Amino acid sequence: MIYSCEEHVEYALEEIVNTYATPPVLQPLKEGELLTTTCGYCGKTAIYVVSNEHSPTKCG
Ligand SMILES: [Zn+2]
Repeated sequence: MIYSCEEHVEYALEEIVNTYATPPVLQPLKEGELLTTTCGYCGKTAIYVVSNEHSPTKCG
């Protein structure tokens, strides 16, 4: 998953799509993570976390 500030959230979304070829999941950071987490692109305080939707494989 990628942590991102507001400015770079689009970069993070694209990176997830390019890396995993799945729809990215954008979630706001929880309060406890807000001040301790930095953007992976610029180092500012992150406010979003972008992850890949990793649902278990379904049969049939
Ligand atoms: Zn940033």
